[in-house]
Amino acid sequence: MERTLVLVKPDGVYRALIGRIITTFEDAGLKVVGIKMLRPDRKLTEQHYIWDEAWAKNVWEKSAKDAAEKGAKMSEDWKQMGERIRKQLIEYILTGPIVAAVIEGNEAAAEVRKLVGATSPVRADPYSIRGRFSTDSYGFADSRHRAVVNLVHASEDSKIAEREISVWFKKEELVDYKRVDEGVMFPGH
Ligand code: GDP
Ligand code: MG
Repeated sequence: MERTLVLVKPDGVYRALIGRIITTFEDAGLKVVGIKMLRPDRKLTEQHYIWDEAWAKNVWEKSAKDAAEKGAKMSEDWKQMGERIRKQLIEYILTGPIVAAVIEGNEAAAEVRKLVGATSPVRADPYSIRGRFSTDSYGFADSRHRAVVNLVHASEDSKIAEREISVWFKKEELVDYKRVDEGVMFPGH
């Protein structure tokens, strides 16, 4: 069993979608093993969105693909873009309260990412959280000099999740227990 970090971003809290977002993970057979609401300060938010070159390159590539499909050109290189988006993201997270949760289950990191959907909500699968609850997009967000508002953060993989979980939770804030249906979902478990 694997653990991953989810943040319900301020738009998710303000739109009263906390329950529906967390229910999506529970319905899929995943388990909440830690959860809290908080208003993060800048220091904590910067620790979470730590500068990461691989992440910045990936952000640039995702946007470049989207721009190419529209026949548009990229005006920034990956470093400029990564730095800009990291700043915009931190401002976005600081606009209100968030809910931080640790989700546990079989291949939890990939499963949660699948349920959350693609970064740009207009591109996200219509049954995913971002696809169901938003129609924001890279173009719309960039034209307004803000981050894409997309309800949820989910760790990229289980290794990154370990670091991100340690930013938001102390060991003793995470709880071990069995769901009553675990024996049915995973016989022999
Ligand atoms: P995620 O893992 O799907 O959340 O996406 P990333 O880790 O690539 O980006 C982190 C967050 O930055 C996203 O959830 C968006 O809020 C925002 N973001 C990512 N790419 C862009 C972009 O091209 N433009 C803008 N304005 N925001 C972006
Ligand atoms: Mg990410």
